[in-house]
Amino acid sequence: MIKRVLEIGERLLFPNNIYCLVCGAMIDESRPYSLCDKCVRQLHWITGGRQADGKLQRVCAKCGKALPETYRGALCYDCMHHKHAFEKGFSCLTYGLHERELMMNLKYNGRSYIAAKMGEMMFDRMKYELADFNPDGVKIDVVVPVPISRDRLRKRGYNQSELMARYFVRAWDRELGEAPQLETRALLRTKNTQMLRGLDPAERALAMRGAFAVKSTGTEILRDKNVLLIDDIYTTGSTSDACSKALLEAGAQRVYLLTLASGGNRKPGT
Ligand SMILES: [Zn+2]
Ligand SMILES: [Zn+2]
Repeated sequence: MIKRVLEIGERLLFPNNIYCLVCGAMIDESRPYSLCDKCVRQLHWITGGRQADGKLQRVCAKCGKALPETYRGALCYDCMHHKHAFEKGFSCLTYGLHERELMMNLKYNGRSYIAAKMGEMMFDRMKYELADFNPDGVKIDVVVPVPISRDRLRKRGYNQSELMARYFVRAWDRELGEAPQLETRALLRTKNTQMLRGLDPAERALAMRGAFAVKSTGTEILRDKNVLLIDDIYTTGSTSDACSKALLEAGAQRVYLLTLASGGNRKPGT
């Protein structure tokens, strides 16, 4: 009951389905994820299967980035050259101009309610990859959002990955029931890493070393569990790897990764 009242309250406070979350155009309530038709067409969806145009899309078997049509390998360039600590990654969108707009709105314009739509989008992307749907699918016990530093939390007022994770679990509960536990306190950001942009993958990994830690009480929660780590964007995987390492060291069995958007497959420097 309280949950229901909260949901109605949220709807009144944040009028979803009035403006497109990417371009701001007026839309009606029936639009999926509060996106206008034009933006739905222009976003770069990752389905890991057949696309709207009928073409089969391939994704990197490790990190889940979409692979270019002409690309032959099973792994993207990054994954061929760097080992990752996580088991397998999944992503909803390939990062481009419109995706950038969406992420900026989510991150900086204080429009935290966008996270609700993104959480739903992430669940829709993930559900067919789950053991609940597919015998070869993954089993998830705990959902952990990538934490942000206390400083950044104070400035922004919210952690966008945590909000998305919350709505992801809510969508899971609504559609399948028995949603995994959302764990927001076990993993801590112990170092504020400001500028990763412009660093190469090795430099990023170095900058991220020791940036995350699991609280002593967290080991109880994580031991032998399959964890789904949730973040907004995947580029070289340095953040995901640093989090995964901390989770695995704390006793987690496997770490899967789900991100809203992932970077392209370009070689460094191109
Ligand atoms: Zn739009
Ligand atoms: Zn990859």
